[in-house]
Amino acid sequence: MIEGLNFIDGEWSDSPTKLADINPSDTRDIVGRFARASVSEVDRAADASRRAFPAWAATTPLERHDILQRVGAEILARKDELGTLLSSEEGKTLAEGIGECARAGQIFQYFAGECLRQAGEVLRSIRPGLDVSVVREPVGVIGIITPWNFPIAIPAWKIAPALAFGNCVVFKPSEIAPATAYRLAEILARSGLPNGVFNLVIGEGKDVGAAIASSPKLDGISFTGSVGVGQTIARAAVAVPPMRRLQLEMGGKNALVVLDDADIERAVECAANGGFYSTGQRCTASSRVIVTEGVYRQFIARLAERAESLRVGHALDPQTQVGPVVDERQLEKNLSYIDIGRNEGARLIVGGERLKRETPGYYFSPAVFADVSPSMRIAREEIFGPIVAVIAARDYAEALAIANDSAFGLSAGICTSSLARAEHFKRNVKAGMVMVNVPTAGVDFHVPFGGRKLSNYGPREQGRQAHEFFTVTKTAYLDPMC
Ligand code: NAD
Repeated sequence: MIEGLNFIDGEWSDSPTKLADINPSDTRDIVGRFARASVSEVDRAADASRRAFPAWAATTPLERHDILQRVGAEILARKDELGTLLSSEEGKTLAEGIGECARAGQIFQYFAGECLRQAGEVLRSIRPGLDVSVVREPVGVIGIITPWNFPIAIPAWKIAPALAFGNCVVFKPSEIAPATAYRLAEILARSGLPNGVFNLVIGEGKDVGAAIASSPKLDGISFTGSVGVGQTIARAAVAVPPMRRLQLEMGGKNALVVLDDADIERAVECAANGGFYSTGQRCTASSRVIVTEGVYRQFIARLAERAESLRVGHALDPQTQVGPVVDERQLEKNLSYIDIGRNEGARLIVGGERLKRETPGYYFSPAVFADVSPSMRIAREEIFGPIVAVIAARDYAEALAIANDSAFGLSAGICTSSLARAEHFKRNVKAGMVMVNVPTAGVDFHVPFGGRKLSNYGPREQGRQAHEFFTVTKTAYLDPMC
């Protein structure tokens, strides 16, 4: 069992009160106990970061590259061990846990490369003789607040660019799954970063998270989580001067459109992968599947068969295809939406039940609702579980209209063999990411990630665009003749 500490100004510090990280596959197993940071420790971390910032911002790109490269290499070398830990605390399958750790390592290595690729522009002024240069500088101290569902990949895709572009970090992982993030903090702590550049404060959102959101000593906040918490953070971040810059990635209710001309087996695979894998606990999950009338019945039957065939079990069992739900609260939420869907008149075709396995855990059978209307709550609200709402549409035009009729706009997909329809969908669906004949979940790290509407506020994450949040632009005018 891990006994986790906080990391502030280069030192590990304990606390008399602890948070327990419980294995959702076997609730008798406590993965770790973590020192709960206090609000004054958040303040101490912010002070340490402020002191460390000028020297860190002045390091050469190569110095930062070498540190991030080392961090990435260690994560990659330990991906099996870290992935086992991740699956133990979060409940995704071992393959998914190891895959996520490998991704975190790759992200650090990608941003190591970005250290060396930072460029500016030099332009001629509209006034005679003047040159204008446009350069990017680090923002300062960034507060990073992350959710439990990607406990190492999301911290990686925020911390790596923050450091690459010369910022300092005060990081709060989710209190529900802090163990893998803690191992990442240990790796960062011995990577050669000067004291104060990276700080870890573990705790709940209501105190430690809120202290980060309202600290006037931070220059920016990068948050991933639910819409409600994102809005609370945004209010706190702008309430008092200095108003901090914000990057908020929030929920989704992602639509997958299946047209009559689709390869049905492929469409079923996309829906099953996007809807049920990672136990449906992905912001990019296909929780709405909109199917045109010609293939609706066939599609429902095949998706129900596929859902039933999935082996739900202990995350570390190699046979498991769908791990447990993360905790009791999320399981109760899934069950309550099964009741909501039934009461609204949707037809539950399969799943939606609490399951018993050899070990006590939060097991839940993947569910498919048919005859869902776009106005039902199960078609409009993010559930964050393996529950797919299937909606019938007369034709492509109606399917597109239903897909766009959502408060969210993170990812959207279409299965079709028509290039014209695919191209029309790409251009007209209101989402930050569009997938054609691939699941709505599953993205690359070298391209921008993010949504529209309620799913996002602020600049994109990942890829080259990451510098938009983690740097500020400076425009300088120079008369070279003086
Ligand atoms: P959450 O919003 O409950 O918590 C996220 C983080 O915010 C946690 O670290 C939590 O401690 C902290 N927090 C809670 N209250 C706070 C407050 N008042 N002030 C400051 N911080 C506070 O989300 P969750 O349950 O951990 O994760 C699930 C949600 O995350 C879903 O809505 C999902 O769609 C979203 N998500 C979005 C993306 C994306 O990139 N768009 C990716 C993954 C998850």
